[in-house]
Amino acid sequence: MGKTKETVLEIHLPNLLDNFQVIKSKISSSTKVLAVVKAVAYGSNAVAIAKCLELAGVDYFAVAYVSEGIALRKEGIKTPILVLHPQIENLEKAIRYDLEPSMYSFRILNAFSKVVQQNSIRKYPVHLKFNTGLNRLGFNEMDIKALKKTFNQESLKLVSIFSHLAATEDPSETEFTKTQLAVFARISQHFDAAPLRHVLNTSGILNYPEAHYDMVRTGIGLYGFGNDPQFDKEFKPVLHLKTVISQIHTLNKGESLGYNRAFIATNTTKIATLPIGHADGISRQYGNGNGQVYIKSMPAKIIGNVCMDMLMVDVSTIDCEEGEEVIIIDDKTQTADSLAKQANTISYEILTALSERIQRKLIVKP
Ligand SMILES: *Cc1c(COP(=O)(O)O)cnc(C)c1O
Repeated sequence: MGKTKETVLEIHLPNLLDNFQVIKSKISSSTKVLAVVKAVAYGSNAVAIAKCLELAGVDYFAVAYVSEGIALRKEGIKTPILVLHPQIENLEKAIRYDLEPSMYSFRILNAFSKVVQQNSIRKYPVHLKFNTGLNRLGFNEMDIKALKKTFNQESLKLVSIFSHLAATEDPSETEFTKTQLAVFARISQHFDAAPLRHVLNTSGILNYPEAHYDMVRTGIGLYGFGNDPQFDKEFKPVLHLKTVISQIHTLNKGESLGYNRAFIATNTTKIATLPIGHADGISRQYGNGNGQVYIKSMPAKIIGNVCMDMLMVDVSTIDCEEGEEVIIIDDKTQTADSLAKQANTISYEILTALSERIQRKLIVKP
């Protein structure tokens, strides 16, 4: 693979397929896999990721919003798509594009039943979302009776019941997670065997094999992270962010660098300017020595304030030139997870913050 000459986000599809197999190896062959491709497939390219996984035989996709599902349908994705957080405003469109909405409240259930009836549709597929302790979206256990009365079996077909867990990656919250799972198990008993049951995200799949049920929902695992050093080893980060050195400056002792003169050289300092900034998703928190990039396998600290379109790194001890390749994240030098830790955040936030301005490049061969 040639060295990059501008800022580029490589999407390594062979790694994606390997991660998909890792997930499959953790579950029984009768358990379905739902791939979460919301937020542009965690900052990558939803259509490319979905096409690749559709060919690999994934059972379901999930997006957060209707617009994300439409984007996939317009590009020919045929696999069922669950919309996790639809808004009433978009329900007609959901039907037009054959998207399956999650029903998470009486308000949306009533609104959707009405839209389905108005369009004289019978048995439109929907999913029921239950709140078991995340307290974000979903019906509560005590709603079940009223829910069964409200659910119009002529208009709607119940495809699945599901819930979402608050802390599957956190060993200190095992007890809480088990309580959530117990609530979900009780809720499941109120439904016959027909609807699919699913409750686990990636860390749940890895840490709670007893609760795989009929389907599992994986997002971050597909993109290469297990949220735990033990599992991270099995996955391969799919997104690699690279850039180049635009210009090199030498600061003399006492000279300042960048906006607000946030860095003052205490010695002669060699500085490299990179064409990526906070508008691209490298937040200002990484400035002033908090974050680093890699040049010729050597760490270079981000110094001064991160600008909108650029940032500067200290290359005093690195033998490098203008035009040299710079690694911000890949699967060896520094992963999105290790970069995230430098700013007290998580890989999810780094990946999904990468701006549209950064060119995406599909890598199809290992
Ligand atoms: C985003 C999301 C997931 C995926 O979680 P990962 O930790 O990325 O595997 C699963 N389920 C729901 C409801 C989600 O919102």
